Amino acid sequence: MTLVDVPALPTIPVMKPWLGEEEAEAAAEAVASGWVAQGPRVKAFEETFARRIGVPEAVAVSNCTTGLHLALHLLGVGPGDEVVVPSFSFIATANAARYVGAQPVFADVDALTGNLTPATVQAVLTPRTRAVVVVHQAGVPADVPALEALLAPRGIAVVEDAACAIGSTLRGRPVGAGAHLAAFSFHPRKLVTTGEGGMLTTTAPEVAARARRLREHGMSVSAADRHATGRVAPEQYLEPGFNFRMTDVQAAIGQVQLTRLDAMVARRRELAARYRELLADLPGLRMVADPPWGTTNFQSCWVLLPEDAPVGRDAVLERMSAAGISCRRGIMAAHLEPAYADRPRVSLPVTERLTADSLVLPLFHQMTEADQDRVVDALRAALR
Ligand SMILES: *Cc1c(COP(=O)(O)O)cnc(C)c1O
Repeated sequence: MTLVDVPALPTIPVMKPWLGEEEAEAAAEAVASGWVAQGPRVKAFEETFARRIGVPEAVAVSNCTTGLHLALHLLGVGPGDEVVVPSFSFIATANAARYVGAQPVFADVDALTGNLTPATVQAVLTPRTRAVVVVHQAGVPADVPALEALLAPRGIAVVEDAACAIGSTLRGRPVGAGAHLAAFSFHPRKLVTTGEGGMLTTTAPEVAARARRLREHGMSVSAADRHATGRVAPEQYLEPGFNFRMTDVQAAIGQVQLTRLDAMVARRRELAARYRELLADLPGLRMVADPPWGTTNFQSCWVLLPEDAPVGRDAVLERMSAAGISCRRGIMAAHLEPAYADRPRVSLPVTERLTADSLVLPLFHQMTEADQDRVVDALRAALR
């Protein structure tokens, strides 16, 4: 490098997991123990998770997608049934309905929260509707009690897709605390990560017991329990199950990650508040915010460009990328993807506006104010 070369600033990622030495040590201990598949560390992780959420039961699974699949299977949803889902979500939400042979039916979302509402759900209910998967999109809590008030009298079950929402709150309690069935994700794009991983929570102990069997091929006794008791009685396979297990190496990492959760949420909310101040004078730009009934963990800090913005969203993304800032298009819309092209076309105007004109700004625990200033300067320049 000569003196006149200005070193390029490092690229600012959109997200970065907060992992430390402690996670590495915990994983190494699990390996050294000789028990790396689902075992005592998964059990301990489930207990810590359930306490943290304030829910009676947590069942670790291989990822949130299998958690959603299992939730619909536990409800007995199947062929001939309809499952209402937002299109405005990661595609796994809609796919879960297809895994059990049911028909996903897309409902539109609220423009401010990006979530289902009683009005958008009511518009697509039919006599075949068996369940609704309500997503706490980007960590913003959906008003589940309002949805329950519409659906419970009709006998329609609610599953909460809380993939993004660990550490968010709903009416003063952690998201998932009151959920009959909720599924969380530990993918690195979310706050708490185990590489891959998920957690299905429930308020019903008998549902948890069946979920634990189903995630392990329907076995009457888990491999870990059989090993612990040293008994030779053969296990039985009570019903066709799945292999949706988490490993003890992942659970060991997850235990450490949970000790960081409060700090993660606090830092993300602090950085988001600073974004809000810095972006306040950008005309027409709207940033995702807490709804009246809860708080978001800002898993994704998305902004919506004005409809009459001088530059389109994709051009903004390109300009940000050229400035060394990695943003993402906003939340996807499943109904616009080739995987759903064979279905009747539905009109979801809010979903289409949000998915076309929004983008996700970088936000991660280790982000500095200088990083944030770079993002805001680049966005300001990109929108000119
Ligand atoms: C990430 C995500 C999922 C899938 O989670 P995995 O753990 O990767 O399977 C499902 N739903 C939503 C809303 C998500 O954001």
